[in-house]
Amino acid sequence: MANVKNKLWENNGNATFSTKDGIHASSMNFEKGQRTRHQQKASGFKEKIQSPRPSLDDSLEADVRAFLIDEGLLHIYDDLTKVNPVTPTTVLKCLQARYRAQVFYTNAGCTLVALNPFKPIPHLYTQDLMVEYHLAPQLQEFKPHIFVVAEAAYRNVQSQVEPANQSLVVSGESGAGKTWTSRCLMKYYATVAASSSSPNCQDTVERIEKRVLDSNPIMEAFGNACTLRNNNSSRFGKYIQLQLNRSQILVGASIQTYLLEKTRVAYQAASERNFHIFYQMMKGATEKQRREWMMPRDQRFSWLPNAEKTLEEDCFNETVDAMTNLGITKKKQGQIFRILSGLLHLGNLNFCPPTDESQPCDLQEESKDFLQKTADLLQIPAEHLLACLRLRTLRAGKHTVLFKPCSSAECSVRRDCLAKVIYAQVFDWLVAFINNSICADTSSWCNFIGVLDVYGFECFLLNNLEQLCINYANEKLQQHFVAHYLKAQQEEYVSEGLTWSFIKYQDNQSCLDLIEGTPTGVFSLLNEECRLNRAADAKQFKTRLEKELSNNSCMSWDKFSARPHFTVSHYAGKVSYQIEGMMEKNKDPVPPELIYMLQTSQDPLLHSLFADYSTDEEGLRGHSKVVTVVSKFKNSLESLMKILHSTTPHYTRCIKPNADCRPLTFKKEEVIVQLEACGIVETINISAAGFPIRIPYRCFMQRYGLMTNSRICSQSQTGNGLEMDESTLGPAVADVLNVVLQNQSFFDAFHVGVPGGPEDR
Ligand code: ADP
Ligand code: MG
Repeated sequence: MANVKNKLWENNGNATFSTKDGIHASSMNFEKGQRTRHQQKASGFKEKIQSPRPSLDDSLEADVRAFLIDEGLLHIYDDLTKVNPVTPTTVLKCLQARYRAQVFYTNAGCTLVALNPFKPIPHLYTQDLMVEYHLAPQLQEFKPHIFVVAEAAYRNVQSQVEPANQSLVVSGESGAGKTWTSRCLMKYYATVAASSSSPNCQDTVERIEKRVLDSNPIMEAFGNACTLRNNNSSRFGKYIQLQLNRSQILVGASIQTYLLEKTRVAYQAASERNFHIFYQMMKGATEKQRREWMMPRDQRFSWLPNAEKTLEEDCFNETVDAMTNLGITKKKQGQIFRILSGLLHLGNLNFCPPTDESQPCDLQEESKDFLQKTADLLQIPAEHLLACLRLRTLRAGKHTVLFKPCSSAECSVRRDCLAKVIYAQVFDWLVAFINNSICADTSSWCNFIGVLDVYGFECFLLNNLEQLCINYANEKLQQHFVAHYLKAQQEEYVSEGLTWSFIKYQDNQSCLDLIEGTPTGVFSLLNEECRLNRAADAKQFKTRLEKELSNNSCMSWDKFSARPHFTVSHYAGKVSYQIEGMMEKNKDPVPPELIYMLQTSQDPLLHSLFADYSTDEEGLRGHSKVVTVVSKFKNSLESLMKILHSTTPHYTRCIKPNADCRPLTFKKEEVIVQLEACGIVETINISAAGFPIRIPYRCFMQRYGLMTNSRICSQSQTGNGLEMDESTLGPAVADVLNVVLQNQSFFDAFHVGVPGGPEDR
C-alpha cells in the first residue's frame, strides 16, 4: 500500500499535476465533485494552443499572455509553482501578464505575492467580500487574495494540528504596499470578528474594533512621512497582535514597534518631509490652537520642508478624532502638540561662532525670538535651554563641574539630539497609551493573530547602521521562513509515511553568524568598540573586522572603495556598509545635561517622559547598563522571533511595480530586482519540490471512491457520501490510486497529466 501511495506522490515532486497541453492545472475542485469553471476554460484553452509546455519563452509569451487575458485564464497561473521552468524571467512574465489584466494577487506556493496597483481598487476590498470569504466553506475556491490568507489564518486559530496563534508576515520594499496590506488585514479581522459576535456583545466588539483601527491613523501620523519612495512611508517597524477570545471574537490588540527613524525629526533628505503630524498641525490647527502653539499660518520652520505639498495624509482632524476615541484627553493632546510645536521652534535655532573664542557660541540674530518660544512651549527657562545647548558639562572628581563651550557644529548636534530624544519618547508614550487602551486583560483572550509590517531589505548608494539593522532583521525573517516552511512540509511527509529525500536549501546561517555572532560578529565588535569609549576611528574598526571576520565567506571588501567599509553578502544581494559614523550611531549618545534639563520641565507630560530616563552618565557610573542601538535592536528582534516561532506563519511579499508610484505601470527591471531580493524563485522551487496538492483522505474518497472496487464501495454508506473509519481509509486510498495510475483516461477526463508522465519529463 505504501508503495502505491508513494507512487502518486513521488514523481509529482518537481512537476505538479499538468494538463495534457502542458499548462499546469490549477488545483482541482475535488470537494465539489465537478470540474470548476476554471477547468472548463482550461480545456478550451487546450484546443487553441498546441504547444507542448508553457515555457514562457519570448516566442510564446505574447500568445500565452493574449490567451490568458482573452480567455480569462489567468487563474492557471494563480500559483507561480505552475510556471515552467521557474526562472526569474518566467515568473516575471507571468506576474506582468496578470498585472496587465489587473490581477494583483498571485500565490507562490505558501507565499502570497501582492502587486501594488497604485490606484484604489475598491471592489477588491468591500465589506461584502470579507463576509463572503469568511462564510465560504472552502477557501481553495477563491483566487489568491489577501483575504484568503487572512481567513486561512483565522480558521487555523482553531486548528489542533499547528500552533493556534498565527503570524502574518508582510514584507517588501518601501512603497510596495505593506502598510496598506496590514491595514486590510486589520479591517478584515475587525469585520469578521464583529460579524461573528452575538448581538449582546456587539457594542463592546464595535468599540474595540474601532479602537484597534483607530490606532492606525495615530501611528501613521506620528510614525510615517513622505519620502522619495512613498508619500506615506512608515518610518518604523510594527508587530500588532490581534487578541481573540474563545469564540474568536476580537477583544483587543497590542502593538510592538521597532527602530523608529527619529533622525527624521531634525533631518529630512532633499524632497522628503518630516513626520506627517507636524504638517497636519500646521494645516489643520484652529486659530485658537495656532495661538497656543505659537504657529501662525505664515510661519516658516526649517524642519518642515515641502509643506506646500498637498497630501491625503495631512488630515489633522482624523488624527485628533482617533486620539480622542482612544481616550487621549483634549488636555493631554494639547500637551503633545505643544511639545511638538516646541520641537519645530527648536529647529529654527542656529548658532554662529563667538567673537571671543573663550565664550560660548552665539545664537544667530533671527533665531533669538525662537529661543524664548521654544522655552515657553517646552516649559523650561530660556537661559537654561541655551546653556544646555552650547555648553558641555564635564565632571572633575565628585563635586567639581566644569562647563566647556561647544563649537557651533556641536551646538547643532545637541539641538538635534534634544529633538530626537523628545520625539522618540513622545512616540513611545503614544504606543504605550494605545496599548493600554486596546490591550485586553490576559484572562479575556486566549489566541492572537499577529501582523508584522517591517522595513524590507535595503540597499542604497550609502548604507550605514540603519540598513545593517534592517537587513539583519530581513535575514532573520528569511531564515525563519525557509526553516519553518521546509520543516513543516517535511515533517508532514514523514508523518504520512512518504519516502522523501530532504531538500537542501540555501542556509543563511553564516551571514547571521557574521552579523550577530558572539564574541566575533559585527554587532559584538561594534559594541566593544563603543564601550572602549575612545574616539571613533573607522579605519581601526575596519582593521579589526578584517582580522576577525575575513574567514566568513559572507564578508568582503571592495579594494577600490575610498572610504572604510565592509560588504555583506545577504541572501538578497551584496550590500556595502560605510563604517564612518557607525560607532556614533550605535552609541546614540544623549548628553546627560539635556536629560536633567528635561526633568525640570514644568510641562507635566514632558516631565513624566523623562522622569525615569537613565542617562549615559549614570551608565558610565555603573548605575545602569548603557544599551547600544544594535543590542537593543537585537534583543527586540529576538523576542519577535520567539513569538514568530511559536505561531503558524503566513507570508505576503509585496512588490512595487514601478518606482514612481504610477498606477498600473509595470517596470520589469524594477520588479525583477525585488523578486530576487525576496528570494521568490527559491520559494517557488521549495514549494514546487514538495507536493503541491493536498487532499484529506476523506475528501479524496468522497470524490473518487466510486471509481474503485467493491471493497471500498461496500463500506457503510450514508446520505451524502462514503463514510469510512480511519483504519480503512489507507487501503481504500491505495485502491483508488491503483485504479487512477492504471487508467490514463481518468487524467484525460480532467486534463490532469499523470505525474511523471511524458509531458512531465
Ligand atoms: P509600504 O508600507 O510598503 O511602504 P504602503 O502600504 O504605504 O507601502 O503603500 C504605498 C502606497 O501604495 C499606498 O499609499 C497606496 O496609495 C498604494 N497601495 C498599496 N497597496 C495598495 C492596494 N492594494 N490597492 C491600492 N493602492 C495600494
Ligand atoms: Mg509602510
